[in-house]
Amino acid sequence: MITRKKTRQIMIGSTPVGGDAPISVQSMTNTDTARVDETLAQIERLEKGGCELIRVAVPDMAAASAIRDIRDQIGIPLIADIHFDWRLAVAAMERGAHAVRINPGNLGGAKKLEKTVDAAKQHRVPIRVGVNSGSIEKDLLKKYGFPTPDKPQALIESALRNVRMLEDLGFEEIKISIKSSDVLTTINGYRELSGKTNYPLHLGVTEAGGLIGGTVKSSVALGILLSEGIGDTFRISLTRDPLEEIRVAFELLRALKIRERGPELISCPSCGRTKINLFALVEEVEKYIQSMQSTIKVAVMGCCVNGPGEAREADIGVAGGRGVGIIFKKGEIFKKVPEKELLPVFMQELKLMEEERRQAQDK
Ligand code: SF4
Repeated sequence: MITRKKTRQIMIGSTPVGGDAPISVQSMTNTDTARVDETLAQIERLEKGGCELIRVAVPDMAAASAIRDIRDQIGIPLIADIHFDWRLAVAAMERGAHAVRINPGNLGGAKKLEKTVDAAKQHRVPIRVGVNSGSIEKDLLKKYGFPTPDKPQALIESALRNVRMLEDLGFEEIKISIKSSDVLTTINGYRELSGKTNYPLHLGVTEAGGLIGGTVKSSVALGILLSEGIGDTFRISLTRDPLEEIRVAFELLRALKIRERGPELISCPSCGRTKINLFALVEEVEKYIQSMQSTIKVAVMGCCVNGPGEAREADIGVAGGRGVGIIFKKGEIFKKVPEKELLPVFMQELKLMEEERRQAQDK
């Protein structure tokens, strides 16, 4: 049982972050933000996939100007990601960004920061103080050295210094992230930061890598932190289609029994008893269940003898044999069908089961 640290709650649009709000899943678009149609199309896919907060890069005024159009056509809160230029932050807020991610210390001085904070107050926009290993101030690097697993202090001090700049201006609608590409630095850094602040924390491993490497690094770091009750929202960063980030994020939450979304797929690794093309069958089923909403446990197993027993916890499953396959429910054989009909019959049963669950929920 995970006991979550109760942080101060902020609102990003209508989505609460921190406190007792569910841990939210976010992603970032990789389109040119100013190309509104492309950006909207990507956000729509992500939203359908479960993304709850979406961040877009705002590197220039064209991107800032696109914020209004994008915001008005999506159903999830929009966060503008800005580096260095306070005018872009102000422009994004004026155009309706629900939150901004900045480093207060790199906006070019006190006056510019003050104007940015004034805009945030006026538009009721929270700010994420987003520090990463590459953005740490020189004096902190000199004092603490580059962040390492044993000494992540430069990251923490940099974040807290940036937070104080906002607090000194009477601003507290804050969320913090300290990102490193190193797993252990991320874990130790967030642990220490969590002990020093009550603001909600955005977790992430930056530049984590491709699908496999990035998933492993993010899951280890974020899995450990979340299991310790640290973190209010997070992004799995992958050098891939951002939809994969959402899928990994929800699998991680499911593995930790924090949140569930959509069906869970259980499949065996196959072995010498497998007499069907199991990989192809798994791929087909996986593709099919991606659009499903209910939390059904679905199994795809390589043999009829051991499959149903090994996947006893599955609500419904399929197991293939030589020329014939079975559909089973909770470990018990439900139907035997010729191999050719296995997939369509199974899909039909799956659909029926989802429909039954939906009806039961509606009652
Ligand atoms: S379910 Fe059957 S095919 Fe799959 S690993 Fe177990 S014994 Fe092998």
